[in-house]
Amino acid sequence: MGGDPGVHAGGVGGPGWPPSEVTIGGLLAAGAAALAGSGLPTARRDAEWLLADALGVDRLRLVLDSDRVVAAEVADRFGEWIERRKAHEPLQHILGFEEFRGLRLKTGPAALIPRPETELLVEWALELERTHGPWRLAVDVGAGTGAIACALAAAAPHLGLVAVERSTGALALAAANIAALGLGRQVRLVAGDLFEPLAGLPSAVDLIVSNPPYIATATLSQLPREVSDWEPPEALDGGPDGMAVHRRLVAESPRILRPAGWLVMEMGEEQAGPLRRLLEAGGFEGIEVRRDFRGTERVIAGRVPGTHAESVGAEAWVR
Ligand code: GLN
Repeated sequence: MGGDPGVHAGGVGGPGWPPSEVTIGGLLAAGAAALAGSGLPTARRDAEWLLADALGVDRLRLVLDSDRVVAAEVADRFGEWIERRKAHEPLQHILGFEEFRGLRLKTGPAALIPRPETELLVEWALELERTHGPWRLAVDVGAGTGAIACALAAAAPHLGLVAVERSTGALALAAANIAALGLGRQVRLVAGDLFEPLAGLPSAVDLIVSNPPYIATATLSQLPREVSDWEPPEALDGGPDGMAVHRRLVAESPRILRPAGWLVMEMGEEQAGPLRRLLEAGGFEGIEVRRDFRGTERVIAGRVPGTHAESVGAEAWVR
């Protein structure tokens, strides 16, 4: 067969793997080919991430040290990871982390992997805070990995955050992220469903942010396999029209927002119109929609009526 001397003919992770001597360049080519063969459009990039992590080096090193021989254990680990990726397991679950606004967040099957679209929600919330703030207390409803709460806390050190999450597995991830980023004094994680654990917080909150589940139940199975097979349905399934949780957020948030407090929510395609009407019917003002980098209407924001009064009762929640 000849071919690239560094490439193992049996395939990465296949019979006879790993070969006795293999270079970084050879492994990378074999891994990328195996992933491309499984129809993964990001094959080369994914193989780079996996090999760099298996070696414990930066991706740039792969190019610089292309001729370096790789230890058998590393080749072995890489082979296992390539097999997992071939089954469409998300790269982030294999690596165990994702970057979100420059923060390294621990990820896992218990919570939605933080998406770049959600960074837009954070940008906008920070912009609102700069324009209308300084604010003292924000709530992230359905915190998942804690991405939104951690990113807001890291960017606005004066802001106290309450991150609410009901899934035990997601709570563990969020707790690990808050601790690893040293944000434990700023972000309080509470277990519970939506605003249920915040009953003692009437009219005290400056900002509510949420990336609720927003996929219509009937379309869940049409999502990419990475999502439908590997991410938790409770973070995705938004009921018959995908807006069941938004409805509850719009109905319940005025009770805990202070006058002129803001609600900022992520949403799915074609939800901007219905959600705008829902917010209007709920008495919200200043309603605006922003598009993500693909041009899809992705985030909606509005504020409850009134003029900014000093929030009452926030003290107990801000450390
Ligand atoms: N944006 C997610 C998707 O890819 C959905 C996230 C959500 O429902 N909040 O499919």
